[in-house]
Amino acid sequence: MKILKFGGTSVAHSQNILLVENIIKKQSSKDRIVVIVSALHNVTDQLIKAAESASLKDESYLNIIQELEEKHINLVKELIPVLAQSSWLSFVKKHFNDLEDIYNGIAVLGELTDRIKDKIASYGEFLSSQIIAARLQEQGLDCLWMNSADLIKTDSNFTHAKVDFNLTDLNLKNYLSEHSNRIIIGPGFIASDSKNNRTTLGRGGSDYTASIIAAAVHAEELQIWTDVSGMMTADPRLASNAKPILEISYHEAMELSHFGAKVLYPPSIQPVMVKNIDLFIKNTFAPDAQGTLISHHLKAEENKMQQIAVGVSNMSHIALLTLEGSGMVGIPGISAKLFQCLSQEKINIILITQGSSEHSITIAINEKDAFHAENTINSAFADDINLERVYPVKIETGLSIVALVGENMKSRSGVSAKMFGCLGNNGINIRAIAQGSSERNISIVISEKDSKKAVNILHEEFFESEIKQIHLYICGIGNVGSKLIQQIYDQNEYLKENFLINLRIAGISNSRNMMFSDQGISRETYLNWEEQSKKTSVREFAEEIIQRNLRNSVFVDVTASADVPGIYESLLKRSINIVACNKIAASSDFEKYKNLKNTARNHNCNFYFETNVGAGLPVIGTINDLIKSGDKIISIQAVLSGTLNFVFNHYDGSRTFSEVVAQAQKEGYTEPDPRLDLSGTDVARKILILAREAGYPLQFEQIENMGFLPEECMQGSVEDFYEKLTQYESHFKSLLNDAQSNGKILKYTAKFENGKAEVGLQQVSSNSDLFHLYGKDNIVIFKTLRYSEQPLVIKGAGAGAEVTASGVFADIIRSI
Ligand code: ADP
Ligand code: ASP
Ligand code: MG
Repeated sequence: MKILKFGGTSVAHSQNILLVENIIKKQSSKDRIVVIVSALHNVTDQLIKAAESASLKDESYLNIIQELEEKHINLVKELIPVLAQSSWLSFVKKHFNDLEDIYNGIAVLGELTDRIKDKIASYGEFLSSQIIAARLQEQGLDCLWMNSADLIKTDSNFTHAKVDFNLTDLNLKNYLSEHSNRIIIGPGFIASDSKNNRTTLGRGGSDYTASIIAAAVHAEELQIWTDVSGMMTADPRLASNAKPILEISYHEAMELSHFGAKVLYPPSIQPVMVKNIDLFIKNTFAPDAQGTLISHHLKAEENKMQQIAVGVSNMSHIALLTLEGSGMVGIPGISAKLFQCLSQEKINIILITQGSSEHSITIAINEKDAFHAENTINSAFADDINLERVYPVKIETGLSIVALVGENMKSRSGVSAKMFGCLGNNGINIRAIAQGSSERNISIVISEKDSKKAVNILHEEFFESEIKQIHLYICGIGNVGSKLIQQIYDQNEYLKENFLINLRIAGISNSRNMMFSDQGISRETYLNWEEQSKKTSVREFAEEIIQRNLRNSVFVDVTASADVPGIYESLLKRSINIVACNKIAASSDFEKYKNLKNTARNHNCNFYFETNVGAGLPVIGTINDLIKSGDKIISIQAVLSGTLNFVFNHYDGSRTFSEVVAQAQKEGYTEPDPRLDLSGTDVARKILILAREAGYPLQFEQIENMGFLPEECMQGSVEDFYEKLTQYESHFKSLLNDAQSNGKILKYTAKFENGKAEVGLQQVSSNSDLFHLYGKDNIVIFKTLRYSEQPLVIKGAGAGAEVTASGVFADIIRSI
């Protein structure tokens, strides 16, 4: 004999019930079967909700009953042939009349007991099982309706009744041996006490009914038919990459369901496990999918050994209670007293941790019980609190438990390190940890708002070694930003294939608008920026990123805005990596720069800004490598402005200085305001950043800037500036002539030596390292302890959107 249980979604309405019917027909042609069904989807919730409304004298219960009645009437009309319908329609009407009487009684009394709640809740399964049985009979199948509620006997602990297995097993065995029909069908979830009051087995309890029956008659197997293709590596509603687990042990399944895998009601495993009955989880909507086998004897044993964990589960609405005090140390019986007082109040403890100092004990319970638990514990420990041996119990709410489960965890070292490492890198704060001595499960308590992120991080780390999802937020879609976005789209397939990295552009903004997609903004959507984006500010963009709380996030600042760096700290504090081509942060006040670096370090993330100096050239990375490996920078000599290099390389007297600057701007080699380049401010910022990275706490004001622009050129708008350049042409001409007459060329250089930095226009002779620079080239010459005779030289294109974007891209990859 096989036992099949169909859940609420499987019997949600007539179309689904026809799928169920097919499965039943197929299985009953081979075996004798017992079918247990849930109430129609959502019906139990609605029955209870209406009862609660009635007890508050809120008349909305009448509408709910009416809707439920219509739902069942429609089901009869759709499933039962017309000739047989009328008796079933009266059957449904009669039961809804009875129900209405009960509800009216509740409304009059304004009181709802657990006993009445169970009586009401029992109507869901009672009706669904009767209607489905009638349908199967009308189809000519050898089917009998069994009132399992009368056979399964429990205590009178309404809403969570305990089964009397001796009596129940006997009743079920007798019934099933006395009735030889091919198909026996009955309600799940509901039972009865010794006085024949209706009881229920706890929410989700239809699974349990089926398991109790399977165990009582030593069934060949138990099949739980639901709306997913098995027990999955994570709740598919939270982790879209969750996959069905093909085989899993009873103990593992028990841990997963205990910690929130709703697909199986936790008590359902015990009865079949004791009798060693195979339990399958199958999908009503994909009956050919393999599903999950839960058993002792795992076939693919070798495969299983390679896998550390089988699943990750999540349980929300958790509260932590901590009882603490010096009076707890070494005193036996404190924990017993704590557990006893909660058990007396029927408060379920989900997780316990106690430090080895015994100074405190922390337990996790359902949030809804928190207030009651607090009062219960404080009164049980009133004397100890008065004597200051313990403090009043501390309560924290808004938490979730996330559990990683797998038999093989006990034989592996480093599982917790891996688990905590990947959570830590994503800024998830762990409030409590518990690991059972079986080492089959590591459970952590975290803030509820982080739970989806944590489940995905762990899922990715333990089950998707294939591909790591990175979430990018790109701020700025100017020259560099748009090139970067293009490069990412072009390169993504390659990164996926060769480096198992999937870059998702999860958000894009400019100074006015933004767009988001957790799954990644497609190239098409991005190209429709005008229509698809919505208004924003920098702050709102940051708030949205924080609120979305996605794992492996990188914020990319490809603006020159002074406002954007203002959000870095709040992002770093959420462990969001920052890659900036914007140099304002790294060249701002030294304390601010240092603070951002420290914040990144304290929150296990990175703040990279390689492109601040020399665009895509590996300048900052080189300094970092030198310093980390024990070298010391003695001096830096450099040409750091691609713009100024371009300008002085092209300014040969044949065109005005103003024309040459305009060309540089047009070709995208200048900052939006070219004066930042021409005044030497940009070069000064760069040498400042290099000096700081070399370990010198320099401030911007300490840099000597020997500029060449007349003061007047710095005033007014960018147009005024070009105007002024034209007026001052003779000044620029004389600088050029002077150099030419000395047989030299003009270069805007930067120098750092003996703790001092300076920038300025210099005449450079042909034997200098700085002489042979073309176009927009940069050069940086390091003298270090190790490179003392022959300096370390980095040279190449130091400006341009394409190379800058590729430098930013490299920083992104490095940051994750
Ligand atoms: P039924 O009504 O068939 O009893 P449930 O709603 O009780 O179905 O359980 C199935 C649901 O459990 C799935 O739709 C899924 O959203 C949820 N679920 C949570 N965790 C898991 C998991 N690890 N594997 C499969 N399903 C899960
Ligand atoms: N109908 C009950 C509930 O919703 C039992 C079940 O579906 O398993 O809790
Ligand atoms: Mg269920």
